[in-house]
Amino acid sequence: MNTVYYELKPMIPRRVQIWLRRKVALGKRPLYETVWPIDEKCNKVPEGWPGWPEEKRFALVLTHDVETAKGQAKCSELIELEQRLGFRSSFNFVPKQYEVSSELRNTLVRNGFEVGVHGLYHDGKLYTSRTMFQERAKEINQYLHEWPSVGFRSPSMLHNLDWIHDLNIEYDASTFDTDSFEPQPDGVGTIFPFWVDGNSHQKGYMELPYTLAQDFTLFILMRERNIDIWIRKLDWIVKKGGMALLNTHPDYMNFDGQRLNIEEYPVRLYTDFLRYVKDKYKGQYWHALPREMARFWTKGYQTR
Ligand SMILES: [Zn+2]
Repeated sequence: MNTVYYELKPMIPRRVQIWLRRKVALGKRPLYETVWPIDEKCNKVPEGWPGWPEEKRFALVLTHDVETAKGQAKCSELIELEQRLGFRSSFNFVPKQYEVSSELRNTLVRNGFEVGVHGLYHDGKLYTSRTMFQERAKEINQYLHEWPSVGFRSPSMLHNLDWIHDLNIEYDASTFDTDSFEPQPDGVGTIFPFWVDGNSHQKGYMELPYTLAQDFTLFILMRERNIDIWIRKLDWIVKKGGMALLNTHPDYMNFDGQRLNIEEYPVRLYTDFLRYVKDKYKGQYWHALPREMARFWTKGYQTR
């Protein structure tokens, strides 16, 4: 099904694609009430779990995928917004989809943010065949080395954890605890990071699933106009002592307060979320970059 969709996709106008995906999402939503946005089964604490650094109640990781050149143009504003509120995050760029600005990458690194690789193209074809993946992995590895980055996220959250071993990474972030609205909807069933074993030829890596719904799903597909779903899920994650990992896209954020196009939401919604975490859970969370999360797990907690 996915292969067919991605073959046809370039021929379908964006407006129609969104209209179709909206219909599908809204139709499915009542069916998944017991597993989305919260799947109670995802709360299992890992074996021998010593807790978060500094005895914090939960962990907070902020990430962004930058889909297009238009999204890249909004990154500076997003960086400033997070800095103003005292947050840091990772930005994942698509190396061959648009000209990735080295100046922007440097700004991110200088200011204590992180840069990651988001596929090679954003065309849904990375996993078409084993050969395709291997070919693209070579180029992805070059960008990982050049930028330099230690983290990867697949476009459209497609994933094959076995193949991802081909990448020279410390962590992958192409999965989620539960998300019935993704093209490949198999959740990993946990709100904690986990180690993916290597074998004799390949080293292992950390997997960091996102645990809060994506902005696109909530605000573009479902047309939510508040952050109730993020709050409900975050409060639950806090109760379970898990990792709140959010993926948002500058592409879909509207910063100037003007009329929203079909793929935009007011950036205020993201700001509302950051303020909520900051005010309600002050001093109670470990705010980490994804690579810090991966290293805490591999070096401190899990000894492999
Ligand atoms: Zn993407």
